[in-house]
Amino acid sequence: MKLEISEKFKKLIVDTGKELYKQNLTLGTWGNISVLDSETGLVYIKPSGMDYNDINPEDIIVVDKKGNTIEGLRKPSIEMPMHLSIYNVRKDVGAIVHYHPIYSSVLAVTGFSLPGICEDFVQIVGEKVLCAKYALPGSDELAENAVASLGNRNAVFLLNHGTLCVGKDMKEAMKVCYVVEKTAHIYILSKSVGKCRIIPEEDIKIMQDFAKKSYGKQ
Ligand code: 13P
Ligand code: ZN
Repeated sequence: MKLEISEKFKKLIVDTGKELYKQNLTLGTWGNISVLDSETGLVYIKPSGMDYNDINPEDIIVVDKKGNTIEGLRKPSIEMPMHLSIYNVRKDVGAIVHYHPIYSSVLAVTGFSLPGICEDFVQIVGEKVLCAKYALPGSDELAENAVASLGNRNAVFLLNHGTLCVGKDMKEAMKVCYVVEKTAHIYILSKSVGKCRIIPEEDIKIMQDFAKKSYGKQ
């Protein structure tokens, strides 16, 4: 059976890359984006080392969940093992964005976690974000470490490297990117003022329940 390739997903990767770049959430060729087509099980991923402003739909690589190329002439992102490992364990994930933004990278170079300090953050990202153990970019070890520290949350820091966010689709994954970066910024500023309060665990559960069941549902 021939698996159908979707131009819509290729365009989504191109447009999301430009958005990341425009919003100063990454620089040049760094970071990577993928999306899973739940109907075919195929993954669409950005080419390695290409400037976001130069990437066109025909540059996107389509792979199966084992990493075999189905379509595309470019080399896929070196972080393809990390993206595929996440799709293989997190059945709720349909899009992944790995980026190199300033404030969450400050935490990622310290190895600190980001605690649950803001209501939007705890609702859509998790009760905290952990920093994965160090491994070289593009390595299977980095993929393993990222999966382990991501757990069932929607973001993880990569030590001495950057941040990775996931969502059920690209819109959600990008929302997580903005909220993680904003919360990291607030956390760092609050520390410089002197203190910040962490939301109690039971309130985090109430907020997460609210976000899942009723927030934004008319
Ligand atoms: P790629 O250009 O291969 O996606 O690599 C960029 C990067 O951020 C590696 O972690
Ligand atoms: Zn990276």
